[in-house]
Amino acid sequence: MKKIQRIALIGGTHGNELSGIYLVKKWLAQQTLKQWNALDITARIVNPRACEQSVRYIETDLNREFDIADLENINKTGYEALLAKKLNIEFGPKGNSPYEVLIDLHNTTSNMGACLMLQRKNAFTILLGGYVKHHMPHANIYFQDNVPEEKQNFLLTVAQQGVTVEVGPQPNSVLQQETLDLMELMTRHILDFVELRNNGTTLVIPDEYDAFQYAGNLSLPIDDNGQREGMVSRQIDQKDFQPIEPGHVVMETFSGEKITWQGDYTAYPLFINEAAYHKNHSAMTLSRKFVMSCRDYK
Ligand SMILES: [Zn+2]
Repeated sequence: MKKIQRIALIGGTHGNELSGIYLVKKWLAQQTLKQWNALDITARIVNPRACEQSVRYIETDLNREFDIADLENINKTGYEALLAKKLNIEFGPKGNSPYEVLIDLHNTTSNMGACLMLQRKNAFTILLGGYVKHHMPHANIYFQDNVPEEKQNFLLTVAQQGVTVEVGPQPNSVLQQETLDLMELMTRHILDFVELRNNGTTLVIPDEYDAFQYAGNLSLPIDDNGQREGMVSRQIDQKDFQPIEPGHVVMETFSGEKITWQGDYTAYPLFINEAAYHKNHSAMTLSRKFVMSCRDYK
């Protein structure tokens, strides 16, 4: 097993998600990273202008700027496009980065609790999910390794592998103690896991655990002019990671028509009514629940 040494800890990818920004600020001020002194951790707030103005981004979403073609496109000169190129030099280059793990800290307006989002499915992420789940039984472990290639343009893709700590619900530009505490706890467990694993310490990891797998998205109904014709049903609002059976009401139009889940599997929604997805009229992301076995990796 290869040791993991270089880690990037990133806050402020979105300038109005305050938990990650303040966790990085707090840990830098209190020199908390010394607690994992065997690891080489670089902590950074990456979109300072957006943070200053407390907006998600200045021109474009920084977390969608890391497609290789975009990074190499000299005609892309917007604020975040240039910032992405700079970060790709500092933490990448994508595809050949010395950073083994990038932890990207986000919060969501959706009621997702403490959610660990994993970009790949390999021994490291599977065991990390088990370790976090053991220490935080209420955490949601979500794999998105099957997200289509064209959507693999997140900041964390500059490193060899990336994980997202996504905690909610928390309104944009608001800092709530519960959210910050959950983010801090989950981030501590991730760093502990890496350090203990490097040391060859026997880790307490369950044989199997419940996890979620990305399965698709549901959009709000819109008319020919792009105007919304409905909203998420009260029956599922705020119920992230709770099951929706086929035929279950998921949205309702303003004229009272109920829109039901037409899939052929039990879906577990997340990012329900996420404020940042307002522009693309996303109602929610869907996932499937499954049992992840750690037996072959321990
Ligand atoms: Zn975010």
